Amino acid sequence: TEFMANATHELRTPLAIMKGNVDLALMKKTNSKSVRENLEKVNVEINILSDILKDLTLITSSGQNINHIIDKTPVNITELINNLVKRLRTIALEKNIKIKVKSKKIKDLFSAGDEKYLEKLFINLIKNAITYGKNNGNIVIELNVVKEVLKIKITDDGIGISKEDLPKIFERFYRGDKAHTNEFNSNHSGLGLAIAKWVAELHGGKIDVKSIFDKGSTFTVTLPRLKGKLD
Ligand code: ADP
Repeated sequence: TEFMANATHELRTPLAIMKGNVDLALMKKTNSKSVRENLEKVNVEINILSDILKDLTLITSSGQNINHIIDKTPVNITELINNLVKRLRTIALEKNIKIKVKSKKIKDLFSAGDEKYLEKLFINLIKNAITYGKNNGNIVIELNVVKEVLKIKITDDGIGISKEDLPKIFERFYRGDKAHTNEFNSNHSGLGLAIAKWVAELHGGKIDVKSIFDKGSTFTVTLPRLKGKLD
């Protein structure tokens, strides 16, 4: 853990310098079209590396008990998910995937927690549903209350997960057999679900998964419910 913490820290500075220089180079009006295109490609990869470093920093801290540093304030989970879906729709559109949010009974559902961490949890799950979803597919996100808990189900009709992969997908750095193909290779480090699970548990919740290979997957997040003033 200490090695990871140091390594990720050390990698951040050269990456920031690279990014600064590429940004400067991109501003030059004298660049030819091909130079600009190459620089933009470098920029994309720098952003990917930077996302992976952020995930590594998070997963390193997951070895420690950070209960004392995370906020536990009321978070409107319904609003958080609707806002995320708005942001992620552009990526989904690239594969013509439709995302539907269904919220039964109560308009706004709350949990107590740290909004940034909870956002990361749901970003990882929804992004996966898009990444491993099929072109022209559908993602359905259902929010429900069962007794004192919130259940948030994210269902896709994508590539599904094999029986061999299923028990291992929440392990750090584990990537499914199919995920190694070129189609899914960029920007994936095998950390997304490990982080999502850790965040759920940090908030007193959990994540369950059901999946049928080649048919699709459902990830269910359970979080303790914080009753709102209007309930
Ligand atoms: P990554 O996506 O970076 O590989 P994750 O930890 O997010 O890492 O997921 C681990 C593995 O679980 C993926 O490599 C993939 O095989 C599988 N997986 C996760 N979400 C889905 C999904 N919605 N549909 C199919 N497979 C999935």
